[in-house]
Amino acid sequence: MKVIERIILLFLIAMFCSTTAMYAQDKSIRTLIVTGQDGSHWWKGASDALKQILENSGLFKVDMAITPASGEDISTFQPDFSKYKLVLINYGGKTWNKSTRENFEKYVYNGGGVVIIHSSVIPMSDWKAYNEIVGLGAWDLRNEKDGPYLYWKDGKYVYDYSHGWAGHHDLQHITVIDNRATDHPILKGLNPHWKHFKDEIYGRLRGPARDVEILATTFEHGRDEPIMWTVRPRKGRVFVSVLGHCGNDPNMNYSMKCTGYQVTLLRGAEWAATGAVAQPVPKDFPLEDTYSLRPDFKIPFNAY
Ligand code: ZN
Repeated sequence: MKVIERIILLFLIAMFCSTTAMYAQDKSIRTLIVTGQDGSHWWKGASDALKQILENSGLFKVDMAITPASGEDISTFQPDFSKYKLVLINYGGKTWNKSTRENFEKYVYNGGGVVIIHSSVIPMSDWKAYNEIVGLGAWDLRNEKDGPYLYWKDGKYVYDYSHGWAGHHDLQHITVIDNRATDHPILKGLNPHWKHFKDEIYGRLRGPARDVEILATTFEHGRDEPIMWTVRPRKGRVFVSVLGHCGNDPNMNYSMKCTGYQVTLLRGAEWAATGAVAQPVPKDFPLEDTYSLRPDFKIPFNAY
């Protein structure tokens, strides 16, 4: 082969490889994690773990949008949501400024995918659309003015309009999660009950509760409390999981190491972004009497 032919061949191989890489990258779901303020949690450690869980699956490519710190000017926070198929909110801080709120509403109502994690059901209660997008919220002065408590009883939804504050949790503990939507793509094929590792379990949630489908509950203080749900604000798809507490130092992300948490997060994220779930049920999914952990935030090689 002549030198010039070799050069052309190498050039063509390089072109093929880079096109293949671009194609592989294009297939992954472009995701934005919004984070940056949360006085009660180690938001940075939690967001780093969330990015690892999502990217280690091979399905998502994650960017971070970090807000100004508490006390700084929130109006400089203006991410371009429209570039993403999925926006994951791990945020417990000040309400965004008007143009950012409007951009987020537009993103959701036009069909954007959203995942909302743990303490992100708490902030921004003064933003009407956020309350509707989250469906159910906690604390931040939420009470009967914001909508009913919603919980599960005897196979039915209970909308409880009684007066009272939103939000409650006890000391962290291991719990059993009950699958209440066995035909929903996110939970289809998963066990009817599974054990969840030590976590801070929220209850007494209330909000507009419109277009909310309860996916899973846990029994807390005498009620089957929603622990995962979806919301369909216009064309948007929202998945909320209030599991996944990450405490005040980098070593306190143990709740996020729970396999049940990671698997439902990945399935909820895929559904929010695409409307379907193609992920098979992994073999290490927990049983009713046995939790399992993925300490490196990776799907094990023998999971399928
Ligand atoms: Zn927490």
